[in-house]
Amino acid sequence: MKPFTLSDADYGRFWSYVSVGDAAACWPWTRSFNNKGYGRFYLSGGRGVLAHRAAVAATSGGASPVGVVMHACDNPPCCNPARLSVGTHACNSRDMIAKGRSLRGRVGPRGELGPNRKLTQAAADEIRSLRDKGFTHYALAEKFGVSRPRIAQILKGKAWLPMPPGARPFGPRVKELP
Ligand SMILES: [Zn+2]
Repeated sequence: MKPFTLSDADYGRFWSYVSVGDAAACWPWTRSFNNKGYGRFYLSGGRGVLAHRAAVAATSGGASPVGVVMHACDNPPCCNPARLSVGTHACNSRDMIAKGRSLRGRVGPRGELGPNRKLTQAAADEIRSLRDKGFTHYALAEKFGVSRPRIAQILKGKAWLPMPPGARPFGPRVKELP
């Protein structure tokens, strides 16, 4: 599976094509399907990816899953992240977890770990909740190691929109919510 990354625009469009329901229900894809019944989502560049793989990406910072995504419900069109799990390639996922942990440092790293790196959905949700508690843009940018314009985008809802009701964060870089 060739890796892909969801843009912020892809992210919003993706969820508009999913019939999001109860946390415990199947969330069927509503657009086109491949011959095995799996949903197909077209990235803004035109490339088609499997919708359930995009669902995992949409809840783990936009990065496509490493490994095969399996449905706990055996329902190919289902895009409920709670029903999806990634078959691990042990080394890769340990590597990703290690990288994920390294992103939490307070000192701003450079390059792909620098101010323009992708945040996880969970981080975006936390940023919004801390802002409500009175944290400044500056404090949030420092805490999460991203630029202040990026924080502003998130708070204005231009990046990492709040998750649909019932969705759970998913993926190695996202901590489970209680
Ligand atoms: Zn399902």
